[in-house]
Amino acid sequence: MGYLIHGAMVLSAQAPYSFSQKDVLVSDAGLIENVAPSISPPSSCGQIDASGHVLLPGLVNAHTHAAMSLLRGVGDDLHLNEWLQKDVWPREKRMDEKTIETGTKLALCEMVRSGITCFNDMYFHMDAAARAVQQSGMRAVLGYGMIDMGDFGGKGRKELAIAGKFAEKISRQNNPLITSSICPHATHTCSAELLQESAKLARKLKLPLHIHAAETRKETADVLAKTKKESGRALRPIEFLDSCGCLSSRTILAHGVYASKSEVLLMARRSSSLAHCPVSNLKLAGGGAAPVPEYAQAGVNLSIGTDGAASNNSLNLFESMKAGAIEQKNFRFDAAAVKADDYLRMGTEGGAKALGIKTGKIGKGYLADIVLLDAKSPNLVPFTNNAGWLVYAAGPQNVTDVMANGKWLMRGRKLLTLDEEKIIESAQKAADRLG
Ligand SMILES: [Zn+2]
Repeated sequence: MGYLIHGAMVLSAQAPYSFSQKDVLVSDAGLIENVAPSISPPSSCGQIDASGHVLLPGLVNAHTHAAMSLLRGVGDDLHLNEWLQKDVWPREKRMDEKTIETGTKLALCEMVRSGITCFNDMYFHMDAAARAVQQSGMRAVLGYGMIDMGDFGGKGRKELAIAGKFAEKISRQNNPLITSSICPHATHTCSAELLQESAKLARKLKLPLHIHAAETRKETADVLAKTKKESGRALRPIEFLDSCGCLSSRTILAHGVYASKSEVLLMARRSSSLAHCPVSNLKLAGGGAAPVPEYAQAGVNLSIGTDGAASNNSLNLFESMKAGAIEQKNFRFDAAAVKADDYLRMGTEGGAKALGIKTGKIGKGYLADIVLLDAKSPNLVPFTNNAGWLVYAAGPQNVTDVMANGKWLMRGRKLLTLDEEKIIESAQKAADRLG
């Protein structure tokens, strides 16, 4: 059944963003069929009164590890290496398929409540993640995260086979909501051979390549040393990726904090996208701030992600948009360094472009991924009709209704596709079992 949503203040299709009262017609096929000041309802169409609400495209979480929701709060306030070695890796070793399915479902509940309708995920036991996503009705790009720690012959080949098999299985399923990507984990955890083969596989299967890069200073030092030793030429992380053929218009590079000026220009030349993850970078104390204005000036497509809940500790993209903007302002001693518009674009249109999915805008022909927020909440009054009103003040508590692909996932703050109470109970038990 299609829907006519009327009376809402609808976000404009372009920045500088503003809201105006419009009707939105959603087709049976899950597309936005029309957006106009007044639309007469076609027959057999559900009518939704959205007065008092604002209507946005669903937010796009461009980088996460959904099932890490079960590691929320584990080893908080420890140094990065201690946190990884003592708390994260031993628990990840104990995660089986069932645990990943439960953790992914918990993340899905949180993401829908945060107005996210599409996310880019990298983790393991991805068949289990895909089952959870399928049940939820969310849109996702899923990929198996490959790590060989320099051992391509012994480990990398097997990792590549798992990733390829999963990607091909997802393609065969032909689910309009779930696609896959090729995910070599990071520049310092993958051998040059694994990166080269990943790039070939992504090209062969016509899929995005999703990877962590330039996240920390240590990674930069490690990659400079590794490349000098192996090829006699010291390369920085993004240069190293390019030398392995990993940078293309289908590449989503997460973090990009320690990118040099020439690496920013290299990403622009290759038309690659950045998934900026400010909250995770701040919490793990990477010490820098991604050169966001430089990326924007060079023409790099910018998207934004929460990263996993282990390092965030939430999947709240409103918070990431605000934290990213204010981090940049503070880091540069310049309140005008970035604009709320830039961050709202990253959370919507930029994320959609990075993933190659026609969502992220309220316009005719776009996928019907739609979020309604209660504009009368105290934290949103007065209404100033600009991007800052949303980026600096809105949060998941304001999200009332969420639609993906023309189907409601949440109505009146109640989740319709996920049994939230049961999921919370099993997630707590699964986390307790992980220790
Ligand atoms: Zn990550």
